[in-house]
Amino acid sequence: MPPLLEVDNLHVQFPVRQGMVHAVSGVSLTVHNGETLGLVGESGCGKSTLARSIVQLVPPTAGEIHFDGQTLQGLAPATLRKLRPRLQMIFQDPYASLNPRKTVFDALAEPLRVHAIVPRPEIPAEVGKLMDQVGLARHFSRKFPHEFSGGQRQRIAIARALALRPQMLIADEPVSALDISVQAQILNLLAQLAREKGLAMLLISHDLSVVKHMSNRIAVMYLGRIVELGPATSVMQTPRHPYTQALLRAVPRLTPTTTAEETFLGGDPPSPLHPPAGCPFHPRCPIAMEDCRAESPALLSIGNEHEVACPRWEKSPADGFRH
Ligand code: SF4
Repeated sequence: MPPLLEVDNLHVQFPVRQGMVHAVSGVSLTVHNGETLGLVGESGCGKSTLARSIVQLVPPTAGEIHFDGQTLQGLAPATLRKLRPRLQMIFQDPYASLNPRKTVFDALAEPLRVHAIVPRPEIPAEVGKLMDQVGLARHFSRKFPHEFSGGQRQRIAIARALALRPQMLIADEPVSALDISVQAQILNLLAQLAREKGLAMLLISHDLSVVKHMSNRIAVMYLGRIVELGPATSVMQTPRHPYTQALLRAVPRLTPTTTAEETFLGGDPPSPLHPPAGCPFHPRCPIAMEDCRAESPALLSIGNEHEVACPRWEKSPADGFRH
């Protein structure tokens, strides 16, 4: 089966006063029907720009995006409008993505009406079903967003995305603005909905512990590039890129076995305004050699559908980071 989403060598650059921001540099990835791809990396690595570019909120500078066999760039606005309901985004801040003047009922009824998802007389019943699906009591439908907790607001945002009967969700840091106690509830809800409805999902987070249980595959992004990609178990149990290993050591554990020094990923990521020459990770890499400053390594297969952008991956022992 061809992938539902295929991103091919995507570049996104922004001009700013000081020069050009290289937000996304040659990213290629696929997401299949019913699959969850976790995309993880530090904040500022280009994950959100990539997500917005996929849904055409940010124009790509180069590369191609195909969704269900259609190339998204250059589509006529009317064609893109028709396709948009099938590819829905869930944002980090549900409060900012909800209109404070609209009740839950209005927020859910509007997309049903605008896209003619159900006949008008059936809209109230459909709103009720959507509220059931995301675990919100139906009598909340006349309330406004400010009357809800952060977790409840994210449930409304998820219901609004589901209203359009999408094939795929792009969830950009969907729990990072929520209390730790409700994060698991929202992640479980997303996993359950994806399973029940056969949805594909691109789940974006700065936190590997958020994506590890829900993802079939995991892509690790650093400074606008994918540096490791593979089946979730393989990436979590035998991470091969030094950056993925550093991210894994930063995931809190109940019984820490590493020292404070080992758990720290040294320094800040370089600025995407002036990405380093060669491997973008070389200024922070514990096993960098002189030639790492000259050549930017491509993502290459190391077997088992696992790919790594580091020619020294075998020198980077993965044991000891098992979760
Ligand atoms: Fe480190 Fe060099 Fe590998 Fe980059 S290419 S991750 S700098 S060893």
